[in-house]
Amino acid sequence: MASRSLDISQIRSDFPILHRENRSKPLAFLDNAATSQKPACVINAISDYYTHTNSNVHRGVYELAEDAENLYHQARKSIARRFNVTVDQVVFVRGATEGLNLVAQSFGPLVLEQGDAMILSEMEHHANIVPWQILSQKIGFEIRVCPTLPNGSLDREWISREFRKKNLKLIALTALSNTLGTVNPIEEIVAEARQYGIKTVIDGAQSVPHQKIDFQKLGCDFFAFSGHKIFGPMGIGVVLGSKDSLQNMPPYQGGGDMIDQVSFEGTTFAPVPQRFEAGTPNVAGAIGLGKAIDYFDQFEISDVVNHENNLYQIARTGLAEIAGFVEHGTTPHKAAVLSFTIEGIHPHDLATFLDAQGIAIRTGHHCCQPLMKVLGVEATARASFALYNTEEEANRLVDAVKKAVSILK
Ligand code: PMP
Repeated sequence: MASRSLDISQIRSDFPILHRENRSKPLAFLDNAATSQKPACVINAISDYYTHTNSNVHRGVYELAEDAENLYHQARKSIARRFNVTVDQVVFVRGATEGLNLVAQSFGPLVLEQGDAMILSEMEHHANIVPWQILSQKIGFEIRVCPTLPNGSLDREWISREFRKKNLKLIALTALSNTLGTVNPIEEIVAEARQYGIKTVIDGAQSVPHQKIDFQKLGCDFFAFSGHKIFGPMGIGVVLGSKDSLQNMPPYQGGGDMIDQVSFEGTTFAPVPQRFEAGTPNVAGAIGLGKAIDYFDQFEISDVVNHENNLYQIARTGLAEIAGFVEHGTTPHKAAVLSFTIEGIHPHDLATFLDAQGIAIRTGHHCCQPLMKVLGVEATARASFALYNTEEEANRLVDAVKKAVSILK
């Protein structure tokens, strides 16, 4: 049960890295859309695992192996609880990228044939574009791309029109844009898709630290995310799948741990989720992710979102005073991701200036090259906030950007 209040200074003391400096200045980490920092409980869980419990899972009869197996299973249970699924719906992967590749490679061919079509949106991350393009080259289906409206929201009417077309079989959509911050109406889109029997794949990479997802209620076929964006370790992520879809899917990779019986005459496969988890898993990563989910579960998501939005508003209001400031993504339905450009200043120069002030932001195409083309820019600067950021950091960002403009312009 969520009960912990959002005492930011107390929360900051949970994250050891926030106390280091960046270029000899206090670190203001405003690149949370790229990755989040880790609380000590996650770091300790990983360290404890290797110190006290390390053993391969699944095959050991000795106590150590049993302990490792129990911790690994516990992590799967924490994830299942958070997303309201059963443990057999939780498939461990390396991250959202691998998850989306798994879905495209294993599930895609079950629903997409030559002459069919699927929908992506202009605001997708490359991780939710390229796997489908690779599949489309093999199968010969068409990828249709939902336009972005000037405020950075999806063209909803376009989607409804496409859904009515006979050969439309699947939509793969980000829940939350890593570049624009747009929160897409996935509940509404999934519900509409289901009326037409259209399959739904949600890229939840950015959603997990800003939204509470009830997978059953959402009703999509797949939801993929990375542990490192939700205070967990890198190299671990999850695909949540509907039972029906997972049951019918062939393996993604072959090897140990994903089989039932192997012979040279033929091999049978393990039930889900093991069927999709070939090889020695990232046990420490899964345990770290389970801890991260438990950590995040202490807080009410509405408290987190209100806090982050407050920081976002401080930053955008302050930056909007700068001549030539353009925010990319202005829909009211957005998370605390602030992408912007300032006329006459290259985002990289700006980020380098901020770095010297201790402020970490990201610049570039954010793995969204098609979106950059739509926005008519090569790169943006992006500040993205998390629950441990402070008003002081948002104000430091504004002051530092203003200073940069006075010097660089
Ligand atoms: N989708 C979105 C929207 C993302 O922001 C990211 C990470 N930037 C990914 C997918 C891919 O995540 P990962 O690199 O952790 O696999």
